[in-house]
Amino acid sequence: MIIVLTPNCKEENIDRISEHLHKLDLKIHKSRGEDHMILGVIGDISRVDIDKIKGFDGVASIIRISESYKQCSRSFHPSDSIIHVGNVPFGGKEIAVIAGPCSVENEKMIKKLSRELTRSGAHALRGGAFKPRSSPYAFQGLEKDGLKYLKEASHAAGVPCVSEVMAISDIDLFCEYVDAIQVGARNMQNFSLLKALGTSSKPIILKRGISATVEEWLNAAEYIVNGGNPNVILCERGIRTFENSTRFTLDLSSVPVIKKLSHLPIIVDPSHAMGKRDLVISMARAAVAAGADGIMVEVHDDPINALSDGPQSLYPKQFKQLMKEIQVISQVIGRGLLRQ
Ligand code: PEP
Ligand code: MN
Repeated sequence: MIIVLTPNCKEENIDRISEHLHKLDLKIHKSRGEDHMILGVIGDISRVDIDKIKGFDGVASIIRISESYKQCSRSFHPSDSIIHVGNVPFGGKEIAVIAGPCSVENEKMIKKLSRELTRSGAHALRGGAFKPRSSPYAFQGLEKDGLKYLKEASHAAGVPCVSEVMAISDIDLFCEYVDAIQVGARNMQNFSLLKALGTSSKPIILKRGISATVEEWLNAAEYIVNGGNPNVILCERGIRTFENSTRFTLDLSSVPVIKKLSHLPIIVDPSHAMGKRDLVISMARAAVAAGADGIMVEVHDDPINALSDGPQSLYPKQFKQLMKEIQVISQVIGRGLLRQ
C-alpha cells in the first residue's frame, strides 16, 4: 500500500501517520515520487482502516499495490535505485561492465586476466569458485582458494569482484572475500538462500531462473529486499525455450519490462544465454541498446582449455573491442560507459 502525501505535508503529520502504522506492526518506507512524497507501507495491511488513514492531515490519496511483489515495484519506489558494488554504481545514468572467467582456475590466470580486463575498461571482476555444474564429474571450482585468488586479483587491479554463492553456510565466507554475491539461475527460487541473503549487507546479483517469469523473478528479489537487504541487481541470462540454436533464449524484452515494473537495476549476461563466443558480442551490444544498466561477460585468456564455459568465453582482444563498441552505443542512447 502506498500513501501519497500532499505537497506541503509537514514532518509532524508524517510522524503521526507512521506512529499509527507502527502500532499495527507495519514498516514505513519514505520516498519521493515525481512531484509528491510517498510512504510505502510494508507488512500485513489487512488490519489497516483505509478511511482512517485518509483522515490524517497531509494524506492526498492511498494506492494499493496490485503486484505480488511490493518493495521491488516501481509504484513503491518511483525513482531508479542505484546499487553500489564496491565503488561501482549500477542503475545510474552510466553503464557498468563486469567481466572475468566462468571459474577461477588458478592464481596466476585470474591475476593476469584481471589486469588485462581492467586495462580494457572492465569496472568489476567475476569468477566462480563454487560452481553449479550440470554434471557432478565436471570441475566444481576451487572453493575458498578461488575466492581468495579472486579477491587478491581484484585488489591488485583496483576494482570490486563478484562470485556465486550456492549454500547458506558459505555466506559469511563470501562476505569476507567478495564485493557482491551472485545468486545463480539454478538458485533463483531457493527461498531459504534468498532469505538468508536478505540479512546480509552485501549487494546481491540475482540471475533470472532458467524457466522463471519476470513476476517470479521479481518475487525472488522481494524475498531478499523484504529480509532487509535492499541492494539487489537483477541479471537477465536467458531462459529455456523450444529454440535450440543458442544455449538459452536471451529475453532482452525483460529489460524494458523490468524498467517499467521495478526500480531495481538490471544487467544482462549474454554469455550463458548464447553459449557460443561468436554470438555473445552482438547480444552484448543489443543489451546496452535495450537499456540495460550493465553487462556481465565471460572472458578467458585460453578459452579452448578453460575448465568451464570455454566455448562462450570471449578472448581478451574481443572484450577490448566490445568495450569500444558499447561505449559508442551507450552514448547514442544518452548514457555512456562509466569511467573507471
Ligand atoms: C555463471 O555465472 O557462471 C553461471 C553459472 O551462471 P547462470 O547461473 O546464469 O547459469
Ligand atoms: Mn559460466
